[in-house]
Amino acid sequence: MAPSDTPRLIRIHPDDDVAVVANDGGLGAGTEVDGVVLATRVPQAHKVALHALAAGAPVRRYGVVIGNVREDIPAGGWVNEDNLAMPEPPGLDGLPFATAEPVDTTPLTGYTFEGYRNADGSVGTRNILGITTTVQCVAGVVGHAVARIKAELLPKYPNVDDVVALEHTYGCGVAIDAAAAAIPIETVRNIAKNPNFAGSTMVVSLGCEKMQPSRLFPEMFGAAATVEAEGDLVTLQDERHGGFQAMIASIMETAERHLRELDRRRRGTCPASDLVVGLQCGGSDALSGLTANPALGFAADLIVRAGGTVMFSEVTEVRDGIAQLTRRAATPEIAAALVREMAWYDDYLAQSMVDRSANTTPGNKKGGLSNIVEKAMGSIIKSGTMPIAGVVAPGQRARRKGLLFTATPASDFICGTLQVAAGINVHVFTTGRGTPYGLAEVPVIKVATRTDLARRWHDLMDVDAGRIVSAGVSIEDMGREMFRLILAVASGEKTAAERLHLANSLALFNPGPVT
Ligand code: CA
Repeated sequence: MAPSDTPRLIRIHPDDDVAVVANDGGLGAGTEVDGVVLATRVPQAHKVALHALAAGAPVRRYGVVIGNVREDIPAGGWVNEDNLAMPEPPGLDGLPFATAEPVDTTPLTGYTFEGYRNADGSVGTRNILGITTTVQCVAGVVGHAVARIKAELLPKYPNVDDVVALEHTYGCGVAIDAAAAAIPIETVRNIAKNPNFAGSTMVVSLGCEKMQPSRLFPEMFGAAATVEAEGDLVTLQDERHGGFQAMIASIMETAERHLRELDRRRRGTCPASDLVVGLQCGGSDALSGLTANPALGFAADLIVRAGGTVMFSEVTEVRDGIAQLTRRAATPEIAAALVREMAWYDDYLAQSMVDRSANTTPGNKKGGLSNIVEKAMGSIIKSGTMPIAGVVAPGQRARRKGLLFTATPASDFICGTLQVAAGINVHVFTTGRGTPYGLAEVPVIKVATRTDLARRWHDLMDVDAGRIVSAGVSIEDMGREMFRLILAVASGEKTAAERLHLANSLALFNPGPVT
């Protein structure tokens, strides 16, 4: 039998009451494996009871109670969302602050990539003209202009990778002075400062919108605006625009000035400490926490040890593991900031009378994740083991290096958008169910948690982390492979999503009122 045909269960922690089926296609009723006989057919990545569980008994996975069984389950029985009740969320009082044992933080030297150094010290991994929009009203016109820029101008500037309209649905029809409006406004402002745009800002405004250019970029368009800065702003309602073609001509003329500047840039050797890597998962399954995420955690440790920055996010997916995170915080102040972000999000969800359990999807459950507690434990693993060196609030740009918790919703598009604002130059995305996710602003490396997905989506996935169960590759070797790929992609190697030109829309997080 091939290694993947031998019946195999994977238990993560010695205290666990369940183990998950490793085999592609699952295992049939009557299969004998690890001393239990399966009571029913169990799909891949789903949980098998390793001993009899009486109704009400706690069920541990990752050494953590992920729920209590609703009924008696025999040894070899299938534990799933129907027979597992979710525990209460952990409280936010009395958490351990910065108490974790020290881990190996020995600096890792000698790793470099070829990037674009910016004036502010950040490093781009792509050389892109980003066109900021102040309001959705201009999206159609900007979309038309971008299509013409790509067809008519971009071929003249071969060192520029792309032209991207930074389009969003914010800007007007919103309570712009609400406290929560700071999040979408800061997000739009900081996206324009992403290292891949080289600090070269051009803006298209309608004219009458609430989010005025002077409010978005006061240093460029505020009271002290220079003529030069004004030249980077195209206002569609400007009297000089006699119709649509005049607007397009203005946008193209401004864009060409920026393209000429960007085209002069060249890649240069940069230390791995200039990496700013955003991590997230989407379409997760129970193998996410066994293959892709632990290997990514190993890669994250290598990046942090090399002096680089790693961001993990997705508040609802770490909420149940908050005690692990506050323990790993480098200082009590950072632990307190983590608790603050969790409390803010608890309140945000409570306004709509839901909690973190609203996170899981039908696909997660079909993939073997019974509830958010189990999903959270598998998600946190991708943050590795390094101390948490900082917390970035939604919409803010990271101001320091190391492992950072960037507070975002788990929604793939919103998390990606907020990480772009926080300053990532590479994004790594793990998936078990499969998603064609991509970003136009930053290269996205997609990691399949299972080999059958990597095979089926051969041209959409960059890494098959399923080989950890299907071919016996170690988590460490897979993590080193990911680290090397991150450096290669940072140097310009195209990802699957880039080759196919797949990019999702930016999606702002707007917790404030719409008018
Ligand atoms: Ca996500």
